[in-house]
Parts: sequence; C-alpha cells; structure tokens
Amino acid sequence: MSERIAQHHHCRKCGKAFVGDGPFCSQECKAYHDANLKRKKKQLTLLYVITFVILILALVFVSL
Ligand SMILES: [Zn+2]
Repeated sequence: MSERIAQHHHCRKCGKAFVGDGPFCSQECKAYHDANLKRKKKQLTLLYVITFVILILALVFVSL
C-alpha cells in the first residue's frame, strides 16, 4: 500500500508531488522550465559576448 506513495516525486517547477515520469507534474510546468532555461542560456551567451568584447577593447586600449 505505502509503496505506491513512495513512487511519487516533486515537480521541479512548482514543487507539487505527483506520480509519473519526468521531473515535471504537467506540460505547462515543463514548457515554463524550458522557456526559462532558454532565456537563461541566451542571457549567459550575451554576457559571454559582452565580456569578450570588453576584453578585446581593453587589450586594444592597453596596446595603444
Ligand atoms: Zn508542476
């Protein structure tokens, strides 16, 4: 009986306990997480590019 309850896990987005496959309780939670991840990746890429540009500008400025 209690074995069924042990099979549940918590949604990585809303924290709700649910029974099923995957880290999310619903398609909405998965979609939300995916969109969030994509946005974060984009921000990280932008940050990387900006850092690189600043580094190049600094190098050019120093060598002048
Ligand atoms: Zn959820």
